[in-house]
Amino acid sequence: MTQPTPDQVLAQLAAYREHDAPTHGGRVLSYVYDSGLAELDELAGAAAAQVQAVNALDPTTFGSVALMQADLVTFARDVLGGGPGTVGAVTSGGTESILLAVLAARERWRERHPGSRATPRIVAPSTAHAAFHKAAHYLGLEVTAVPVDPASGTLPAARLVEHLDDATALVVASAPAYPHGVLDPVAEIAAAATARDLPCHVDACVGGFVLPWWPGAEAWDLSVPGVTSISADLHKFGYAPKGASVLLFTDPDLDRARYYALTDWPGYPVVNPTALGSRSAMSLAAAWAVVTRLGPQGYAGLTASVVEATASVRQVLDRVRGLRLVGEPVGPLLAVTTDPGLPEAERVDPHAWATAVARRGFVLQGQPALTQADGTTIPRSTHLTITPVTTRVLAELGRALTDGADDVRGRPPGPAAAEGPPGAGALPDPVALAHAARESGELDLAAVLALIEGLPREQSAGLLVDFLAAFTAPRA
Ligand SMILES: *Cc1c(COP(=O)(O)O)cnc(C)c1O
Repeated sequence: MTQPTPDQVLAQLAAYREHDAPTHGGRVLSYVYDSGLAELDELAGAAAAQVQAVNALDPTTFGSVALMQADLVTFARDVLGGGPGTVGAVTSGGTESILLAVLAARERWRERHPGSRATPRIVAPSTAHAAFHKAAHYLGLEVTAVPVDPASGTLPAARLVEHLDDATALVVASAPAYPHGVLDPVAEIAAAATARDLPCHVDACVGGFVLPWWPGAEAWDLSVPGVTSISADLHKFGYAPKGASVLLFTDPDLDRARYYALTDWPGYPVVNPTALGSRSAMSLAAAWAVVTRLGPQGYAGLTASVVEATASVRQVLDRVRGLRLVGEPVGPLLAVTTDPGLPEAERVDPHAWATAVARRGFVLQGQPALTQADGTTIPRSTHLTITPVTTRVLAELGRALTDGADDVRGRPPGPAAAEGPPGAGALPDPVALAHAARESGELDLAAVLALIEGLPREQSAGLLVDFLAAFTAPRA
C-alpha cells in the first residue's frame, strides 16, 4: 500500500468533517460559542501553530507556558472579582477545573479530619454540573444533590445549608447552572459555608466570561465573601478553541492542594499543577491570543450583542403558546418546557419541539426530566445557548422556534414520560442503534431522552456507555 500524500490526508479529514454539526453561524445552540469574528479564529489557529511542538509539562523549560498562564490568570482574576492574593491555574476545560477544585477540597477535609472513616461529601444544588459527580466518582467523595424548586430551577440557600455537616468537604453554587441558566443564591450559600469554615466553589464555567458584563446580575464572583474558588471556561464565552479553562482560588493553601509532586521515583522530579503530564500548549496559546486581543473591552462588546440576542429570543419564546421558560435565567442560557397551565391540546412537548426545530435548521439540546431526592420532578426541557452570532440569524431562528411549535402543538409527549419504564423486551439494542446512527449520520435524540427518563439511572447510564463504545469502535 502506498502512503497517502498530505493533500490526500487532508481531503480525508475534510470528508470526515462532513459528519460534523456546523461549528459556526449560530445554527447549533449548544457545544459551540461562536464570536462571529473570523479574525479571532485565524489568530487562535496561528498562535496554536506557533507552539505546536512545545510541551506544557514543564514551564521552566518552556517559559512561554508560564508567561501565558500568568497572563490568563491575571485577566481572569481581574474580571472575576479576585484580589491581589488570588492565584490559580489554566486547565484543559471545565471538567478538569472542577476536578481540581474538588481535589483541593478533599485534601483540606482529610487534613482536618485525620483518621476519619466518613466519606467526604460535595453539597450542591441538583442542577450543579455533572462534572461534580464525575469528580466525586474519581476522587472518592459522594454528592448530596439538594433538590431545587422545579419551577424556578434553584433553591433558597437555607435548604442547602441544612445539609452541611462534618462530612461536607465542599459547598457548590453555579453562576449560572447549565441546565436552565439560573443563578444560585451565591452570597447566602457562600456565607453559610464560611460560617462553618468550609470551602465554597462557584461554578462559573459557562458564565465566567459573559456575566461580568451582563446587566443586573447579582454578585456571584470572587468578590462575594466566603467564595474560595471559581471555575470559568475560556473555551465557552471566552471564545477560545476547546481546551482552556481557568480555576482560581482566594486561599493559597487550597490552591497548593491541587498540585501533585513526586520526588521518590528514579526519573525527573515531577510537579504537575493540573491533571495531565505531557500536554500540548496549543489550546493555552490559542486562548491567550484570543483573550489578549479582545481584552475586557472586546468581551463587553460581544456580551452586549449576546444580551440583545437573548432578549429577542426570550420575546419570541414568550409568544409561543404551549411553552414556557424554566425559572428566571440570568445570562444567555435558556431552558424551555411545556406550559403545564394549558389544556393538553395547546401544550408543546419540548423534545418534539426540538425535533421540529431541527427540521427547520437549528439544533437545540434536549434535557430529560429528573425526579429529585424529595420526589419532585424537574420537567423535561430543551436548552438554548445564545451567542454573538445568534444576532445574525435572529429572524430565521425566530420563525423556526415559532413554526416548530405549531408543527407539534397538542401532540402527546414522547413515550416514556407518562408510562414509566418500558419492559426489558422493549429496550432498543444500543449497539444496533450506534451502528445505524454511524451509517445514517442521524440519531433520534428524543427517543434516547425518553429512554433515559423511563429507566433506572444505572441502567440508562450503562446503555449510554454501550452505545458510545459501539459508536466509536474500530470498523470491521
Ligand atoms: C460546560 C460546563 C462545565 C463543564 O465544562 P467542560 O468544559 O465541558 O468540561 C461545568 N459547569 C458548567 C456550569 C458548564 O456549563
